[in-house]
Amino acid sequence: MNREIYMDYAATTYMKPEVIKDMKTYMDEYFGNASSIYHISRKTRMAIDISRKRVADAINSNIDEIYFTSGGSESDNWALKGIAFANKDKGKHIITTAIEHHAVINTCKYLEKLGFEITYLPVNKYGMVDLHNLKKAVRKDTILVSVMFANNEIGTIEPVKKIGDFCRHNKIIFHTDAVQAVGNIPIDVKTMNIDLLSMSSHKFYGPKGVGALYIRKGIRIDSLIHGGSQERGRRAGTYNTPGIVGIGKAISIAVKNLEVQKERLTKLRDMFIKELLEIQDTSLNGSPGKERLPGNINVTFKGIEAETLLIMLDSRGIYVSSGSACSAGALEPSHVLIAIGLTESMAKSSIRFTIGSGTTYEEIAYVLEVVKECVNKLRNNK
Ligand SMILES: *Cc1c(COP(=O)(O)O)cnc(C)c1O
Repeated sequence: MNREIYMDYAATTYMKPEVIKDMKTYMDEYFGNASSIYHISRKTRMAIDISRKRVADAINSNIDEIYFTSGGSESDNWALKGIAFANKDKGKHIITTAIEHHAVINTCKYLEKLGFEITYLPVNKYGMVDLHNLKKAVRKDTILVSVMFANNEIGTIEPVKKIGDFCRHNKIIFHTDAVQAVGNIPIDVKTMNIDLLSMSSHKFYGPKGVGALYIRKGIRIDSLIHGGSQERGRRAGTYNTPGIVGIGKAISIAVKNLEVQKERLTKLRDMFIKELLEIQDTSLNGSPGKERLPGNINVTFKGIEAETLLIMLDSRGIYVSSGSACSAGALEPSHVLIAIGLTESMAKSSIRFTIGSGTTYEEIAYVLEVVKECVNKLRNNK
């Protein structure tokens, strides 16, 4: 039997057929430049307006607070650099966490080179930020707090509303990288007091290379891409009409199915975790409680090299991820797993399974069977 099972939904998702269908219309029939005034361009402009409304509705923002970008990385870069540059007269201190995505961490590293000072908040063993640590880290010159909504490796959902309330009360701008959260868990930028929020379409069954940044009205932010007057003059470049149509369609489907999908995946996830923990010397990374993304399963198989297991699973048609990142040919342990207190060797023995819309009970049962077999094989070979 040669089957393929995809369990890496946190890396990217397949595209929903309805999304592809809608996008296609704006590749052939209505290909016009949205900034032109003739008929086909009126159609593209209307489609962009509809998409902007769909994205705004999904997070309860206003339509003129949504800016389309090329994805999560651009949104994170814009939020951090744009706020830093525009508010440097007020201060040069930024607070973030030790477990952010590289799009945030490496942007912070760059800002440090320019003279900004960054505090990387620690997290507890479940990957949660403690509000007391945030309060202690705040200085007179703190201009921005950036804490991710949910972590891409261990699935931990951060106390975003509490952080938002605190920042609003103290007049500090609050950005959240919500790339893993949008479409999976409910988000309301108004009640959560969020000032900026990053999202990426290919994490919720839309196309790659398109995302959005929500910027609350009145927030002072510099532009990073200068040119034409698109996106209210704040982000230049000819509208990526098919991509924008795609993100709008994808987010509307995701939000409509959110509760049902959340419940279904949570059940599958908990069953999966319970069975995996039956394997000897296996431990769960991230929160065992409800502060966990519905589709995230991250475990450590003590004594096993995750890369080896990953290749074995790949040869059986099962696609999963290890937290390690290959930098300059050397395998670096995941900064997230190190931050929650794992040793380097434990971190390098960890595997992330992420499930989603296409995942079935039957797939999980098969993966469990193969994982058990592979883990046993690797342990007995020693
Ligand atoms: C995927 C991801 C990003 C980057 O998004 P791209 O659209 O791939 O640039 C940023 N942050 C998190 C948490 C992610 O999971």
